[in-house]
Amino acid sequence: MPKTLKYILFDLDETLYPSRSGLMAEIGRLMSRYMEERLGMSPTEVPTLREHYYRMYGTTMGGLQIHHGIDPEDYLAYVHDIPLEDYIGPNDKLDRVLAEIEAEKVVFTNASKEHARRVLKTLGIERHFSHIIDVRALGCISKPDPEAFRRALEILGVKGDECLIVDDRVLNLAPAKELGMITVLVGSEKTALRQGHSKDVDFVIGEVEEIGKVVRRLTSQALSSDG
Ligand SMILES: [Mg+2]
Repeated sequence: MPKTLKYILFDLDETLYPSRSGLMAEIGRLMSRYMEERLGMSPTEVPTLREHYYRMYGTTMGGLQIHHGIDPEDYLAYVHDIPLEDYIGPNDKLDRVLAEIEAEKVVFTNASKEHARRVLKTLGIERHFSHIIDVRALGCISKPDPEAFRRALEILGVKGDECLIVDDRVLNLAPAKELGMITVLVGSEKTALRQGHSKDVDFVIGEVEEIGKVVRRLTSQALSSDG
């Protein structure tokens, strides 16, 4: 438990909104279409390649940059060109939960700042976030590369043990745990936990709105160990 919880780093996609919204699936469809249209790949090879890049580099974009020299700006604009309102809307409950949390809130995402801003705006929670650390701010290095986490801490000027991180992927929590952050898995990546990653996860919540409970629990623990 940190002495003071200064920052909460929220992943964006499928963390601040649920996967059932279908938004990330649509972004994924555009990633595949980009590979077919811009890189002339066949629809049959695309899924295998995406899976491979995702495993190797944490994102499809990482693999496309390394192996195909794509322009990240062109790619990011292409895959985020989506009418968000068709998938997500204002989340009043999350708005209230975030308002009650004192620690500074940050978006820490492998996507672009523009996409993050639009998502926050559509969810109606933009006002709570002091920073958006996007893939560009990280020099196009993506989570789960440990360097992405070190850079994020550097940007914020804090130590790992002053932060809590929320992400829907266990893979993205492991390097954070290594740096001393408190880790919260949102969603139900139960298989990953069963596969022995549980040491990397301090809390599991089903929906991001439950983060309020986690923070209250940590705060009361800190108070009781103080007194
Ligand atoms: Mg995510």
